[in-house]
Formats: sequence, C-alpha cells, structure tokens
Amino acid sequence: MDATHEVFNQPAALTNYNVFATNRPLRDALRFNAPGLDTAELERLGQTLGSSEMQQHSRLANVHTPQLHTHDRVGRRVDVVEFHPSYHALMALATGTGLHGTPWAGGAHAHVRRAAGFTLFTEMEPSTLCPISMTYAVTPALQGNPAIAAEWGPRLTSRAYDPRFVPAAQKGGVTMGMGMTEKQGGSDVRANTTQATRDGRDAWGERYRLVGHKWFFSAPMCDAFLVLAQAPSGLSCFFLPRWLPDGTVNALRIQRLKDKLGNKANASSEVEFHGAHAWLVGEEGRGVPQILEMGTLTRLDCALGTTGLMRQALAQALNHTSQRSAFGKPLIDQPLMRNVLADLALESEAATALSLRLARAFDGGSDEREALMRRLLTPVAKFWVCKRGSHFAQEAMECLGGNGYVEEGGEGMLARIYREIPLNSIWEGAGNIMALDLLRALRKGGAMADALDAELAPARGAHTAFDRFAASLPARIDEASAETDARRLAQDVALAVQAALLRQHAPEPVFDAFCRSRLAGDWGHAFGTLPSGVDFDSIIARAMPH
Ligand SMILES: Cc1cc2nc3c(=O)[nH]c(=O)nc-3n(C[C@H](O)[C@H](O)[C@H](O)COP(=O)(O)OP(=O)(O)OC[C@H]3O[C@@H](n4cnc5c(N)ncnc54)[C@H](O)[C@@H]3O)c2cc1C
Repeated sequence: MDATHEVFNQPAALTNYNVFATNRPLRDALRFNAPGLDTAELERLGQTLGSSEMQQHSRLANVHTPQLHTHDRVGRRVDVVEFHPSYHALMALATGTGLHGTPWAGGAHAHVRRAAGFTLFTEMEPSTLCPISMTYAVTPALQGNPAIAAEWGPRLTSRAYDPRFVPAAQKGGVTMGMGMTEKQGGSDVRANTTQATRDGRDAWGERYRLVGHKWFFSAPMCDAFLVLAQAPSGLSCFFLPRWLPDGTVNALRIQRLKDKLGNKANASSEVEFHGAHAWLVGEEGRGVPQILEMGTLTRLDCALGTTGLMRQALAQALNHTSQRSAFGKPLIDQPLMRNVLADLALESEAATALSLRLARAFDGGSDEREALMRRLLTPVAKFWVCKRGSHFAQEAMECLGGNGYVEEGGEGMLARIYREIPLNSIWEGAGNIMALDLLRALRKGGAMADALDAELAPARGAHTAFDRFAASLPARIDEASAETDARRLAQDVALAVQAALLRQHAPEPVFDAFCRSRLAGDWGHAFGTLPSGVDFDSIIARAMPH
C-alpha cells in the first residue's frame, strides 16, 4: 500500500522503563509499612517487568490461550492443559521472584515485600498470578494437616518453577489451587453437594474418596488443591493432589475450560471428581473456616492485584496524554484532562496505601491490633479497591481515546486491564459478600472499634473534613447490623483509613484533595470532578511514570 501521509502525534509506547523506580506512591507506602526494607530485588523486578521482552510475553500468553486435552491420541484420559511458552516464562519469573509461598519461609516485612512485587507484576500480567496467589494463600490453611504441611511446605516456598505433570516428589517446586464453587452455590458454599466418604488412614491422616464436581476450578495444572466436600460430620476441607503418593494420577477429570471475558492466560476449568482421593485438613465439619484461612489471603491479593492494574492504567493514561496533542497543546496540559488525571492519581495512590497497609497486617503475626486489622481491612480493601477498579479502568482507557479500546501493542494493555479488572471484585467473595463479612467482623465489638480508632488517630486534627468524617464512624459501627447499609459502611471505613494513610505517607496536596473530594463531598459522580483549587500540578507530577 502506498503511504498517503506521515504518521505523527501518536505517542510512543510505555516500554523499557522501571515499573518500580517510577512508582513514587508505592515506594512511599513501602517506606511507611516496611521501614528499612531492602528494595534491590524489587528494583530488578521493576526493570524486568517494564521491558519490551516481558510485555511481549504478557501479550502472547493472552493471545495464545491455554488448550485442554482431555484424552490422548489413543483415547486414554489425560486431563492436561497446555500453555504457550510465554505463560511459562511469566510463571518462572513470578516464582523466581518469590511472589508465591516465600513469605512463609520468614524474614522481616516478608508479606509487604511480596505484596509490592505482586502489584508490580500485576501491572504487566495479572492472570498468571491466579495460581501464584493461591500458592501463597494456601500455607496457613494447610497447617490443618501437619503431615502434609511438613512434606509440601518446602515445595511451596521453593523458587523453582517446574510445570511438568509428574508427582510432586519429583519436582523442585509446586503450585496449589482451591475448589469451593459448585453449580448450585458459590458464595453460599454450604450448598456444596460433592460427597466425601471415609476410605481409611495413612501417613497423611484421614483419607476419603470424593465424588462430585466444581463449577469454577482455576489453574487445574496445579499440583494439588484444597477443596470442600460434604463428609459425614458436615462440610469439610480436603487436600486433593493431582498425583497420588503411589505415583498414579488422581481421579480428577477436567470437563472443559471457561470462555472468559478476560484473564485469558489463566486456565479456569470445570472438573469432576470420580472417587478422587483426598485427605482431611482440619476437623471434619469445619471446612469453611479452614479454607477461609486461604480465602483471606487471596482476598488480600484481589486488592493488591487491582491496585497494580489501576497503577498501570494510570501510567498508560499519563504516557499517552503527555505525548498526544489536541486543540493546540498536549492533552495533559488541557485543564479538564488535568482534573481527570489528578483524580485517577488520587484513587490509585489511595488504593496503594490501603492494600499495602493490609499486607503489613499479615506481617504482624500474633500482635493483637494487627490481627484485628487483618480481620477488618481484608473485606474493606477487597470490597472498595476492587469496586473502584472497573470505573477507574474505563476512565483511564478514555484518556487514550480510540487507541485505548484497541487490543494491539503497548497501549493494548488498557483493553486487557479493562477486561481483567472486574474479576477481582467477583472471585474470592463478590462485593456484597465482602460488605456482609465486614458486618460480621464488627460484631467482635469494642476491640475492633478501638483498633480502627487507633488506625485513624495519626490523621486527627490534620483536616476538618477528615475529623468530621472520622467522628461519624463510631456510632455507625456500634449500630452496624443492617445488611442494607453494609456497602456504605465498607466504603466509608475504606475512605477513612485511606485518608489516614495518605496523611502519613503522601504529600499534603494528595491528602488535601482526597479529603475535600472523597470525605467532604466536594466532588461529582465521575472522575475529573475535583474542585478547582486542588494542586493538580503536584498530584500529576508525582504520578508520572517517567
Ligand atoms: C474466572 C473465575 C475463576 C474462578 N476460579 C475459582 C476457583 O479456582 N475456585 C473456586 O472455588 N471458585 C472460583 N471462582 C468462582 C468465584 O469465586 C465465584 O463465582 C464467586 O464466589 C461467586 O459465586 P457464584 O458465582 O456462585 O455467585 P452467587 O453466589 O450466586 O452470587 C451472585 C451475586 O449474589 C451476591 N450475593 C450472594 N449472597 C448474597 C447475600 N446474602 N446478600 C446479598 N448479595 C448476595 C453476590 O455478591 C454476587 O454478586 C472463579 C470465578 C471466576 C469468574
């Protein structure tokens, strides 16, 4: 085709940059939540993640989606999923950087460090993080079976990535998944119909045979899963490996893979258990609290993941608008666009602050206040950060105009983010379930209210809007029982904690604009409605990815 024109005023892609070094809000949140943390590994990860090579892997893993093979050439069942080499490159980077089980091996600020790495990785490719997140989350729940925890613990913390479909004993590192959701009930797992029948006892404890199904069963090539099934004493948690200790394949059949809106690189399957062997984890009849120890951590990751996606969407919006001109000047210099970008930057930084704060609570061990913060902020952050994500992605996409809606190239990342981001709000407990879980947490009474009060204390007196907003919370928490109001309460606890954190580790213009808009209500219902007088310049300069 003959060229009819010169191509100009089209921004260069955001590539070959350090995703960590350029993220000032994340670095400040890290300094606050993990003082003295050695960030050298995060610096290296940030450089790798921002490279054109990893961006290419991310694109390819999402274009060449996983393929299910139920049978081999001669008709034997195989039940394996085949992935593109780029998927394996991403998984190897995630495990090699310790984004899976490594915090359980110990070390100062291990969960915060890993949380920062997880958000950075999400900026580039979120769907491979599904098995990575589940592998991170499983360790506390697995303690319910000490024999299995002792044998599998070192494999779960190993940084080796070994995708071979062979018994775990032959592998340097493993991944684990979870199976709760069935056709007739997902949020209400008590409706599970999968049956567990006692089958004897061995070195791994009480053994059962499982018959039934799971309607959503992500990353089925994981080496083992925690699943729920009905045992004689009620719903129970089981360890179900893909290979049995005798070296044969367990009776798990992958029926098909889900055709999903986004999250394309990750395989999410439907499975059946045909008398599959599984071992009891925890007590019979106590399956829900047992597996929720895993669910709590995957909920943390939903907030962290959304934080990363928001940051990348913002970075793309800033990159584009700083290079694209319309009506005589760069878009980033147009006053109304500055309002949109600054508003997005505030939201992104507030998400970063809340997610990292929650991650710190998991470094808190037996500290009573940190335990209360884990209980309080997990549903709050999962609800609020994930809820804001979809709206955020749409607005960031719009900053790129038509290019934002196109899948191709570096900016195509925004289309991928837009398709991915609602997932974090749905899985691991959808929005209403999180808001209702907050009500349950608040029933703990005074101790929880006191812990929240202490969390907000450092910002008291710093802004009249904050003081008024924070003062209204205790009475609402005391009366927190009406399910109808649960979302409003979750939102407002999130906003108050975000503001208190911004006061402590963000510059004054960020804190002030957040309080005026989110707490005092001097704001509209769409992004880009900050009041005039906000320090747009400082907020945007701080958010720039270059
Ligand atoms: C891509 C993908 C991968 C997944 N992978 C896994 C996996 O690996 N393992 C696994 O176990 N599950 C997995 N899930 C399932 C996911 O966790 C569930 O879809 C989710 O928990 C919701 O359950 P549900 O789909 O049955 O919806 P429902 O439980 O039917 O809920 C529908 C809606 O009703 C709301 N709702 C429910 N109860 C109440 C109430 N009492 N009051 C008010 N509102 C209520 C919910 O918030 C939700 O918005 C996956 C889902 C997706 C989309």
